[in-house]
Amino acid sequence: MSALTTIVIATKNEGKVKEFAHAFAKLGIEVKSLFDYPSIPDIVEDGDTFIANAKIKAKVTGDAIGVPVLADDSGLSVDALDGAPGVYSARFSGEGATDASNNEKLIQQLQQLNAKLELDPLTDGSNLLSHAQFRCALALYIPDTEQFVVAEGLVAGIITDKPHGAGGFGYDPYFYVPQLDCSMAQLSKEEKGKISHRGEALKQLMPQLRTTFDIK
Ligand code: IMP
Repeated sequence: MSALTTIVIATKNEGKVKEFAHAFAKLGIEVKSLFDYPSIPDIVEDGDTFIANAKIKAKVTGDAIGVPVLADDSGLSVDALDGAPGVYSARFSGEGATDASNNEKLIQQLQQLNAKLELDPLTDGSNLLSHAQFRCALALYIPDTEQFVVAEGLVAGIITDKPHGAGGFGYDPYFYVPQLDCSMAQLSKEEKGKISHRGEALKQLMPQLRTTFDIK
């Protein structure tokens, strides 16, 4: 069994890179990303599901560099928007989307629909607009055997009309986690990893990784 000392994550999302680096550091595994392989062109994510897109990203990258590659496809599903933005979470507000423009569109759409849960506002007066879930699919592709290892994770929360916190990335400031009484962006990387969709998917992936690689 070969030792896993470095893992390549098929992403250019700095938020994801930081979270994976934090999670794998505990296992003595160094994380690399597409920032370390600038010659790999942008990958077309045209799958209908998070799993399909994760597999596309892992395989294209793994075939290009010839070592095992882990890909994360993830996003936000909002109940009042019938599951949107879903697989379109990164580009919800169109070409050149940023976290800020995506969040602005999310809150605008929910306000246009007058979405509001019959729950008390938070202590700072923020309204609770809709139930939502963060979902994550992980796919590890091993070029030598052309095999995939996959896992999924989910965390439920509520979209608020005001942001809270400066940590995390993406939709985190608007994603309130009722059981912790704070937003995802108010958690440390350690705390987020314990409850997040990505943390949950990693938990599911690890036993499978250990059957393929020597990991401490
Ligand atoms: P992907 O890189 O195509 O998988 O797109 C992921 C997008 O989903 C990100 O750009 C964020 O908008 C959103 N997203 C995924 N995971 C998280 C998270 O942990 N917090 C906040 N937003 C997330």
